[in-house]
Amino acid sequence: MFNEWFAKDTSRKVKTSLNAKFRAGERTFAYAPIGYKKHPDIKNKLMIDEETRWIVEKIYELALLGNGSAKVTKLLIAEKIPTPGYLNYKRYGTFANIYADAPEEKSWSWTIAQVKSILRDETYIGNSIHYRETNVSFKNKHRVRKDKSEWLRIEGTHEPIISQSDFDKVQGQIASRRRERKDSTTQIFAGPVKCADCGWSLSFATKKQCKTPYSYFKCSRYSSLGKAYCSGHFIRYDTLYAYVLSRLQFWSGQAHMDEEKLLKKLLNASDRETGVIRKKQESDLKRAEKRKSEVDALFTRLYEDWVAGRITEYNFNMLSAKYQDEQAQLDEQFKGLKAKLNETRQTVSDAEKWMSYVKEAAYPTELTASLLNTLIEKIVVHEADRHEDSTAEQEIEIYYRFIGKID
Ligand SMILES: [Zn+2]
Repeated sequence: MFNEWFAKDTSRKVKTSLNAKFRAGERTFAYAPIGYKKHPDIKNKLMIDEETRWIVEKIYELALLGNGSAKVTKLLIAEKIPTPGYLNYKRYGTFANIYADAPEEKSWSWTIAQVKSILRDETYIGNSIHYRETNVSFKNKHRVRKDKSEWLRIEGTHEPIISQSDFDKVQGQIASRRRERKDSTTQIFAGPVKCADCGWSLSFATKKQCKTPYSYFKCSRYSSLGKAYCSGHFIRYDTLYAYVLSRLQFWSGQAHMDEEKLLKKLLNASDRETGVIRKKQESDLKRAEKRKSEVDALFTRLYEDWVAGRITEYNFNMLSAKYQDEQAQLDEQFKGLKAKLNETRQTVSDAEKWMSYVKEAAYPTELTASLLNTLIEKIVVHEADRHEDSTAEQEIEIYYRFIGKID
């Protein structure tokens, strides 16, 4: 009991004094991160190491060209760039047990984790970050990563190797790559893939117990209730992905080649679907309008007849109630028809909207969840027709947002 208390207290004291040093812009470290060396005169200060800074610059350059950490690592190994560990061994003889008798390859055996940590290290923009990890309790030596907000950041403690804007660009790339990875481990279609026969969603799964694992969709009604309720409607994820991507590429290409032609096509497609409806709505509206003016005229005449004493008050009241009822009904009908017709007319601006989105996608080379959400309402998958020669045909209908189905 006593020992633990005592230990806790010293550990707190050490932390406190480290904290004081950090605030003064000093660093405590055994070795400087690659690209830097310890200042010969000022204790715990970094200065650029002209012999190794090019390695850091190279790593950032490769990342800025769009390479992910794994690709950067591969390139460093291919070019036999020495690792920080090997450089320290060469200079200071550290970790001789690892490097002394190791095969030559050991000197450029970069790891993805190493590259990642260099690409995230604010040291290279001149900042010092401390307290990234902490021992929660003295007894339990698990190192726990502290929340970023608890890190102690001191800016401009030494000369940067990487500019702030390049550093920010790389952080952005890392973040977006992480988002995409997250998407693809689940799937990006989320929701809008439907069974053509029962209307239920297709559920997503991955088959792992085979040589080359693959993901697929299957009717969820069939999966949960069995073949008495629906059939498989099986489709591979990569098949669906490739098909949808090819359609979006096609439409994006059309939008770039001839906007006007595509717009006409979109409107024709929506015309075919809504044209009949619109014609009926328009004639209904005309009929309602005509009847309304007839009723108005009848009512006027009725009023004149009553004033002139041509009809009795009883008849006037009865007929006027009837006309008023009809007028109210017609008003209601009129309003409804007008609203519906406006909705139909909306299709022109909807088609324009969709076209501008697909044009913006600029010949997409990959599908993202946001691209799908913007352009596609739902995807309907039919059961495949399997032929005797073991080929199959499968219909996939894509319903686009705003404009519905186009072929
Ligand atoms: Zn189904």
